Amino acid sequence: MDKGADLTVAGIHKRYGQVRALSDVSLTVSAGEFLTILGPSGSGKTTLLKVVAGFETPDEGDVRVGGRDVTDLDPAQRNMGMVFQNYALFPHLTVERNVAFPLEMRGTPKAEIRTRVAEALAMVELTGFEQRLPRQLSGGQQQRVALARAIVFRPTLLLLDEPFGALDRKLREAMQLEVRRLQQRLGLTTLFITHDQEEALVMSDRIAVMDSGRLEQVGRPRDIYDAPASPLVADFVGESNILSGTMEAGGSVRLADGTAIRVTGEGPAAAPGAKVRILLRPERLGDAGDQPGAENQIAGTVVEAIYLGLSDKYRVRTAGGVELLARIGASRTARQYRAGEPITVGFHAADARIIEVR
Ligand code: ADP
Ligand code: MG
Repeated sequence: MDKGADLTVAGIHKRYGQVRALSDVSLTVSAGEFLTILGPSGSGKTTLLKVVAGFETPDEGDVRVGGRDVTDLDPAQRNMGMVFQNYALFPHLTVERNVAFPLEMRGTPKAEIRTRVAEALAMVELTGFEQRLPRQLSGGQQQRVALARAIVFRPTLLLLDEPFGALDRKLREAMQLEVRRLQQRLGLTTLFITHDQEEALVMSDRIAVMDSGRLEQVGRPRDIYDAPASPLVADFVGESNILSGTMEAGGSVRLADGTAIRVTGEGPAAAPGAKVRILLRPERLGDAGDQPGAENQIAGTVVEAIYLGLSDKYRVRTAGGVELLARIGASRTARQYRAGEPITVGFHAADARIIEVR
């Protein structure tokens, strides 16, 4: 199959009455790239997808696919494949007829339809299910039929809006890997939407974090996680401790409880006296045994201990009243703590980074 085209949205604005659903959104998805729009509910993700697909007209800005301006084209003229969370299959049509539908719409010859439908069903591993009706399939199988229907006509772009939202966790994880493999195999340019940060990290070449109709940050999963551009992104992607303090001479930060911590992780420069916010991922915090050689050691008390299987999560309150979240991996040697026990949490200066200077 042909490699997908690149997609550019430039300066998109969209209002619904008083609601600014999209404010100056610009983004390029390269040919063959898997880009995820990640954001909380109501942040404008679906609106952006509808603008790309042609179901909504932007107030300003344009959409280009493979260098061609498609802003004024109807959805049908854009040749994009789509899967939505509850994109119902036609309930009275068999799997085969559902998948054949977009080809029939395009007047594809019958013999070719048969070959292409068989091909698409093989890709989503549903060979043998041709004659079933949607209600005779599980939720995951139905979404695979929807996916087959979205790729069968060789779209220039694949648009997926929370397609696994209704599936249980195990199935969801299996589908994530399956869709990612299929997308890579076909080289399909893909715009994927989710509010699930783990899903975004697992699937994407790049992630665009969206909030209140604006793009907050666009980057590779690792960059978004390790170097979030703002407290908002840090908080939305992964768990985080975000500590407020005042910069001191010599690279230390004085926290609200009076503790001074060493902070050497990459981040914006801050002059002494500046108010800063520090990001510290919980998995980089541990007890003395878990973080040997850590420059920062803070005494506190375990307020809450949560067993998570792969790790233990502790809410710790320092003597000065600052709350910290620590995740300690479930290694054979890891010590376990109970609520009320004293603990000294440690972290390396390099694992603390300034993410905001005010
Ligand atoms: P998301 O997909 O991130 O949950 P949406 O794009 O659906 O967000 O919605 C963004 C904002 O626009 C929300 O405040 C939503 O209520 C509003 N909105 C979306 N569609 C419409 C519409 N057709 N009419 C009025 N407001 C809308
Ligand atoms: Mg939505």
